[in-house]
Amino acid sequence: MEVKKIACPCCGANIDFSKSDKVKCEYCHAMVYLDDKGQVSSPEEDIEKLKIIADDAANELNNSVGTKGFKIVFGLIFSCVIVFISAILILGITSINTHSKYSEYDISSFNNDLELFTGTNSGMFVSNLLDNVITKNKTDKDHVITVIYGEINTTDTDEIRQLKTNFEDFKNYEVSLDYDSDGFVNKVTIFDI
Ligand SMILES: [Zn+2]
Repeated sequence: MEVKKIACPCCGANIDFSKSDKVKCEYCHAMVYLDDKGQVSSPEEDIEKLKIIADDAANELNNSVGTKGFKIVFGLIFSCVIVFISAILILGITSINTHSKYSEYDISSFNNDLELFTGTNSGMFVSNLLDNVITKNKTDKDHVITVIYGEINTTDTDEIRQLKTNFEDFKNYEVSLDYDSDGFVNKVTIFDI
């Protein structure tokens, strides 16, 4: 019988197919088959290939999990940085706000209809000014305005209303304002001129 020696597909050792086309490799003990076309194959070889495919797939999976893990960690760090920066900004803004708890708008809208009457004004305007003071003293207890005219020094709305009768419509008076530490008018002083 013709001696057919063909390399084992698993280990490369020569395998003698002269007796059978199904031979167990002496070296690696893989079953090796010889087909009609003279090609050899082994289930072990296929298993090795499957193992390699499986290992590749496992590595692929590990890598992608690794990449995901990295993305998650990076995402967390990035989120922390964003939160940290936001906190600094919010705290900064809050500290500015607590430094002055009123906005420019609050202050100027409170002061506007008083500042209209500063300087030299007729008694009619002084009466309007005192009407505004009365309204503010009734509605905004945080910013009570003291009215001073001669001996009179009051925050009482009835006294301020009474005070209005002292001013002659077409006579001129001098009005000056004082402000509290927040910038709100807290004192109206009226002088005869
Ligand atoms: Zn072999």
